[in-house]
Amino acid sequence: MSLRSCKIFVTGASSGIGAHLARALARRGAAVAAGARRAEALADLAAVEPRITPVKLDVTDPGSVRSGVAAAAEALGGLDGLVNNAGIAWGGRALDMAEDDWARVIDTNLSGVFRVAQAAARVMAEDGGGSIVNTASVLGFGTGTGVAAYAASKAAVVHLTRNLALEWARHGVRVNALAPGYIPTEINRGFLEGEAGQAMLKDIPMRRFGRPEDLEAPLELLLGPGGAYITGVTLPVDGGHLCRP
Ligand code: NDP
Repeated sequence: MSLRSCKIFVTGASSGIGAHLARALARRGAAVAAGARRAEALADLAAVEPRITPVKLDVTDPGSVRSGVAAAAEALGGLDGLVNNAGIAWGGRALDMAEDDWARVIDTNLSGVFRVAQAAARVMAEDGGGSIVNTASVLGFGTGTGVAAYAASKAAVVHLTRNLALEWARHGVRVNALAPGYIPTEINRGFLEGEAGQAMLKDIPMRRFGRPEDLEAPLELLLGPGGAYITGVTLPVDGGHLCRP
């Protein structure tokens, strides 16, 4: 029941959760391709962990996704896992949101997740199957002020996960998602460390923000052989955040 010798592509791996999970998977013996736009950050990651191969890709660009997934599969000698994690946030009042900002969030967090999943599933289906884990969010289930596009994109990822699971089971491809609670990273550190962010701790029954390492075991379950009969599920990893009314 391990990820040893699995071939796993992690997107959004140049920082935060993705960088942490790429290292954690490599430490568990997986061969990992790490994808994002910032090639230098990926090179730094590969320099400290030789089981990681950097792959530059932009999930908003269909050509870049095709070549990035092909490069990952070639470097690893196939693909049996995808951590579909790249994402961005835009914070601000919906009344003030510009068309471009709305489009960028949806294109990255929803269309980008679909593009990478589709390209990876094509490779996996040819090789007898694989496992995809998308990164959703507690905001895919709940609401927040100033996160309309982000929350809508993540809710769509939850639903996309179930639909792809339904379609791709016959190809041996499982599709699940993690829904992390708040984890201080580049995407939100400024906000979470401020007064409003700290006030949100009272909404988390376990009274702490998450840490990237909290996602390691849930990811291993969904991605690896232990989750062989699990598909279409979005698993909250949130210190009980979604238990609140
Ligand atoms: P970071 O900002 O640290 O990481 C985001 C990653 O996504 C970076 O590696 C970035 O790389 C990559 N990325 C963004 N846009 C693109 C793009 N167009 N093409 C390729 N890669 C892209 O934030 P987190 O680690 O926190 O976020 C990771 C995921 O977790 C996101 O999907 C986020 O929505 C989700 N999440 C985070 C939570 C949190 O509290 N931190 C809570 C719930 C979900 P680069 O800029 O180099 O392209």
